[in-house]
Amino acid sequence: MNVEEEVAGWIRQARYAVALTGAGVSTESGIPDFRGPNGVWTKDPKAERLSNIHAYLADPEVRADVWQMRISHPAWTAAPNAGHLALVDLERRGHLQALITQNIDGLHAIAGTAPEVLIEMHGTMRDVTCLSCGDREPAQPTFDRVLAGDPDPVCLRCGGILKSATISFGQALRPDDLHRAERAATSCDLMIAIGSSLLVYPVAALPQVALDCGARLVIINAERTPYDERADAVIRDPIGEVLPRIAALV
Ligand code: NAD
Repeated sequence: MNVEEEVAGWIRQARYAVALTGAGVSTESGIPDFRGPNGVWTKDPKAERLSNIHAYLADPEVRADVWQMRISHPAWTAAPNAGHLALVDLERRGHLQALITQNIDGLHAIAGTAPEVLIEMHGTMRDVTCLSCGDREPAQPTFDRVLAGDPDPVCLRCGGILKSATISFGQALRPDDLHRAERAATSCDLMIAIGSSLLVYPVAALPQVALDCGARLVIINAERTPYDERADAVIRDPIGEVLPRIAALV
């Protein structure tokens, strides 16, 4: 039996299976990851500053750069790929109970993952929120203000700093998302980590939580992760090829 048949068998047997995805599931949709060979940070280490909440709060120039980056983000024209769709297929056939993602691109939801299954741990770039009053709305009206010449638009209700409804480094996760993810990790008997370097905490702690609760761990990622030695199987092939192959075997 090859490793894909073995993983398909584990998915079939699982009572509660969880997928944990990272930026690597979206690279085949044309959205670069952070740490892969063509990653945003690999190519330009200074870009890391644009993902830091302290720099965002302190520096209007950082905010202006972030708005420009958001408006020109490849996610606006990207479509879900075969990897996203294979996860929807598994969910609809009753083989995936939770999908925890670190991605902010919204592609799992667009692919059709159900809201009650999807946990977007790092939020979504498709909404904008006020860091003072918490007001939240779709991103486009704020983008329109930037495009009309306001480099750092403020909240129209309270004058506070606006930001994509994403979780930057240094920012706390939303408690509800954290609770749902912890519940999934402690409930599952199979966790499949897909396209993540598994370096960003607290999400990177979830595979250990699942292992401690007796779950099997499968890693599908092109590069090494800190969990490879603890995993029951590690697959390095491209996600958009390997996930549909496994789904077809389930
Ligand atoms: P990461 O960049 O740290 O790691 C991505 C991993 O995926 C790499 O190890 C890479 O080798 C692997 N990979 C890339 N394409 C692959 C493919 N086609 N097949 C197999 N493996 C592939 O990503 P991360 O662990 O998600 O952490 C990055 C952080 O940045 C997250 O917090 C996330 O919120 C954010 N981010 C999100 C997006 C997005 O929404 N699409 C994109 C970049 C970064």
